[in-house]
Formats: sequence, structure tokens, C-alpha cells
Amino acid sequence: MTAADLVIRGATVHTMDPSRPTAEALAVRDGLIVAVGDADDVRPHIGARTEVIDASGLVVTPGLVDSHQHPMHGIADAGAIDAAGLTSVAGLEDLLRHVSAGLPPEAWVVVKGVEYSALPANGRFAAFLDDTVSGRPAFLWLMDSHNALMSTKGLQLAGITGPISFGDRSEIMVDDQGVPTGQLHEMAAVMHGYAAVPPPSADDIARLAATLFADQAACGITGIHVPDSWSGTEAVLDALDQQGHLPLRVLLAPWMFPNRVEDTVDAVRTSRARPKWRTGAVKFFLDGTIDGGSAWLEHPDCAGDGTRPMWMDVRQYRDAVRRVVEIGLPCFTHAIGDRAVTEVLDAYQAVGRPKRGRHRVEHAELLSDNDISRFAELDVVASMQPTHMDWTLPDHSDNWSQRLGAPRCGHGWRCADIVRAGGRVALGSDWPVAHYDPRVVMAGARLRRPAADHGREPVGEDQALTAVQSLAGYTTWAAYGVGEEQVAGRVREGFRADLTVFGGDPLACPAEETADLPVAMTVVDGRVAHRAQS
Ligand SMILES: [Zn+2]
Repeated sequence: MTAADLVIRGATVHTMDPSRPTAEALAVRDGLIVAVGDADDVRPHIGARTEVIDASGLVVTPGLVDSHQHPMHGIADAGAIDAAGLTSVAGLEDLLRHVSAGLPPEAWVVVKGVEYSALPANGRFAAFLDDTVSGRPAFLWLMDSHNALMSTKGLQLAGITGPISFGDRSEIMVDDQGVPTGQLHEMAAVMHGYAAVPPPSADDIARLAATLFADQAACGITGIHVPDSWSGTEAVLDALDQQGHLPLRVLLAPWMFPNRVEDTVDAVRTSRARPKWRTGAVKFFLDGTIDGGSAWLEHPDCAGDGTRPMWMDVRQYRDAVRRVVEIGLPCFTHAIGDRAVTEVLDAYQAVGRPKRGRHRVEHAELLSDNDISRFAELDVVASMQPTHMDWTLPDHSDNWSQRLGAPRCGHGWRCADIVRAGGRVALGSDWPVAHYDPRVVMAGARLRRPAADHGREPVGEDQALTAVQSLAGYTTWAAYGVGEEQVAGRVREGFRADLTVFGGDPLACPAEETADLPVAMTVVDGRVAHRAQS
């Protein structure tokens, strides 16, 4: 017998494999798990070159996969000022004046995480910024990442002087005279303005990416799904991989916009898979966000918004979904409002299952009762981000809740309903919208409140996932969501040797402690990708 590369023994192994839920030892060779069982089962695999880890007190799970994050976006904004938590206009104004004061007159002011409650009520955002940043170019991401604000100088540098047609509902917001207010509404408009913001240097991007992925490995992540087309992504992944600095697997799902259907289909069809990363789906937006008034709702929100899809005509969306299925790929569709989710499920039902992978609904924040069981029936995976609930306050005084009004605002993120109906929920962070730490997200899925906010009441407690369900969200259901359930998501012979090794037991510890569980090690493709200093 050829010796194993790695043997872990004396551990508690939560295999997530119903045929053998727990084990004590496993052996790994050539990137695959070759034995699972007890010390006797792995002994024959130990040879002179085998690294043997005596893991007493450690807990092994399948490697954790974040099903939704935007690494290149987070990297591009690494130098941005964080306005998260500032909930008043005065607070935001102070921050902007303070950071601008130390900058040269031509320097960009880039801010992220701006809360809706911190925006001036008159809607004259460019004028507000011109004053607070003293005429500098400025770009502010709102917390939903689907809206942004720019100062007059910023708009000028982006060449934005009035309305632009993007082929969907993305909009340069203008006043009665057709003059831009400074708000860029939805992705195509936001990205149009953001293109004017000077990016970090290529060296900085490479360095930040290496650090980011190493940090994620240190949090227990062994894989990520990236539903975006941030420019430079593939080059960065290739460069890191060649230097041996890519400690996780990546699945890309490039954006599909209405005016680029055939270009996107061509790009996806011709993209070449690498050992550690591949293009595995296409990402659509069928609506926007509840906070920004662009979620497509069954009934309008309290401001009268939420009545339209992101695509001008939903039939166009259905045709594009069909094109993607024709080339054998699944669709990941961003759908936050209940009406959007219904339409996505209808479209998926009409085209049928993809040849490879699974169709997914991204976010699914609001669901009609009738759609709950359709996830299981149609074999569609719900890709959800429990820490987005952190902005939803128990007293519902927050913007998301105010937009929806009662009783709707009490019925978001119905994770447990989907699972009870036999469906699967792949969990993720949507980083940089929320932090990527999977321990914090799993804790949030169980607690229905921020793990660190001990005194806070939960929101929608009946939708809490159990410990094992939250772990499934990062393992078996994440794998299922991309059609990898025969090779990943469980600790089983023949499966990928992607493992997370904890210093405590995520299935036995109280939910609050999940967030602080030490990660002793991650293994990706049979190699140690992260090892905690002890
Ligand atoms: Zn996202």
C-alpha cells in the first residue's frame, strides 16, 4: 500500500456522512481521503513519509466553504474608510470632514459601509459631499453595496453628467433638471462610477489577496464561491496559485447583465478550469436590495418602492437563464424580494435542471409561503447570509424593517423553513458586506443576532438553524449547491481532502462559543493550508 501523505488520528471527526457520522482518524493521499475510521484503520497507511498528527482534543470537519463572497471587491476597498455603525448624518459628516482634512486637494475620499440612516434627507448627496470633503473627488459605498454616492468632482472624473442607459434598472439618479444628485443606483451604475476611483497597484492587490486568503484559511475556510466579475480576478488567482499562495479553492460565477448576454455566455464557455479554481455558474441580478428600495416585492414597501425587477422585462431574464442552461451551466440569481424569488423559481422550473451543478437563489431574504417547498421540489439551493440580519434590529427601527413594515419585517431569512421542507441552505458571508469568518456566520445562523452582541434579542428565532445544520450550510449543502456532493462536503473515502480542524467542537459548543472556536488547521487538496502557531 502506498503510504499516506497525512494521517490525523485521535481526533473527533464529524464526517457529515450519514453512513458514518463520527470517526477518530483519517488518512489522506494525493489530495484525497483514503481512509476514515479509527487508529487501526489508518495504521496501514502510515509510512516513512507520512505526516502523522496526533489530534487529541481537536475536532475535524469537512472543509468550510463560503458560498458567497467578493474577494476582489474587498481588496479594492482595503484602503477605504469604514463608516459602518455611523447612523446619523452628523456622524457621517464628522467622519468625512475629519478624513478629508489630512488629504491633498486632489485626493479621493473613498468610504464603505455607509448606513442609510446617515444620509441627508434632502437627497442632494453630491452637494453634501462637496461641502464635507471640500471639493475632493469622493465615492461612498452604501452598506448594501448596491448603491453609491459621488461628489461633483468624482462624478466629473467618472464622466457622469446626466442619465445613462445601462439596459437594466441601474440608474444615475438625477433631479428635476436632469442634474445628477450624486446617487448611483444599482450595480451597473455603481460600477460605472467606481471605475473612476484609482485602484490599488497590481503589487498591492497581489499582496492583499495573499493576506486575505491566508486570513480566511486561518478562519477555517477551504473554499469560496465568488459570484461576480471583478476585473483582474483570474490573473490574481493564477499568480497566487503559481506561487503556491492560494490556500483555498475558488468557484467563479461571473455577472450576467442584460446587454451582455452573448458575451458572457462566450466568456464562460471558453474559460479554462484550473486545479484550484474554475468558472462554475453564471450570476444574475433579478432585483436589488430592500434597503435601497430595489428588491422586487409581492407588495410595495412602505415608501411605495419594490414593484419592479432589475431586468426591464422578466422574459429577457428567462431567455438568458435558458442560454446558460444550454451551455450546461447553472444560474445563481440574486433575488431578495419575495416576488423576485418566485420569478426566479418559475424561470428555473421552466428550463429544468442544469447539466452540471445546481441552480441557486442568492440571498432569498423574503419568501412567500408558497415558495418554501419549491427549493426542495425543484432541487434549487438557497444561498443565504445570516449575518446580513445584523442590520435588522429587534425593535425594527432600522431602514430594512422600516421599508418593509410589520408584519413582513419580522419574517426575513426563513432558513429553517426551507430546511424543514427538505431544502438545502448554503451559507456565506457576502464579504465585504459582512465579515467572512464562517464561525461568526454559523453562530449568527443559530442565534439570529450578532454573536458578539450578547444582550440583543434575536430576530425570527423560529428560523434559527441547529449546530449541525449551520455546519451543513458550510459543508454538505455548499458542495451540493455547486454539484460537488460526490467529491466534497463530507469526510469520506474518495472525497477531496479539504478539512477544517477546530480546537473545540462546533456541534457540541453553545452557539455563542462557535464564533470564538480556535481553528487549529486547514487542509486543502491534502496539503496543510493553515496551521495555528502553538
Ligand atoms: Zn454578493
